[in-house]
Parts: sequence; structure tokens; C-alpha cells
Amino acid sequence: MNFMRGFHRCEFCSLDEVVAEKDGVVKLLGSAEVWLPGESVLYAAPNLIVHYIRAHGYQPPAEYLRAVEALDVDEWAPPREYVWNNRES
Ligand SMILES: [Zn+2]
Repeated sequence: MNFMRGFHRCEFCSLDEVVAEKDGVVKLLGSAEVWLPGESVLYAAPNLIVHYIRAHGYQPPAEYLRAVEALDVDEWAPPREYVWNNRES
């Protein structure tokens, strides 16, 4: 969500580019947000959170992890009133 023009690099390692791969699709991280519906909140995190967890052992709050486990990616759509410039929706 909310793709930006520039890239933010990881401040904890020396990688010039951070990517994530799922099902053969590779995404460059560092220029967008990940949105996640919670029970009564909408979480927004830099998409580098994937790298922070995998590479640096970041542990999101328990509420966030429960929301990840409860999410059905195929069924969820972000609330339109909060989508500013999402080019993939
Ligand atoms: Zn890093």
C-alpha cells in the first residue's frame, strides 16, 4: 500500500536492495507499507517489516502476530477511504 517514489534502505545491514519472494514473485521492499486489519485497528508498517523479522529477528507485538494469523489475504481489501495512491488496487 501507499507506494512511494524513493526507497528506504535497511538501517541495520549493508544491503543495497532488500527483496521478498513468495510463489516465485519477487518484490523490492523499502518503498511501501503493509496494511493489516486488527480487531479494532488497522495496522500500517513499512514493508521492510518482512526483512526486519527475517533478517534481524524483530518480534512484532502479539496483537500484530494474531492479526497476521487471522488474515485471509484473498478475502481482505483495504478500506477505500484510507487508500491514497495505491496503484495496485
Ligand atoms: Zn537489514
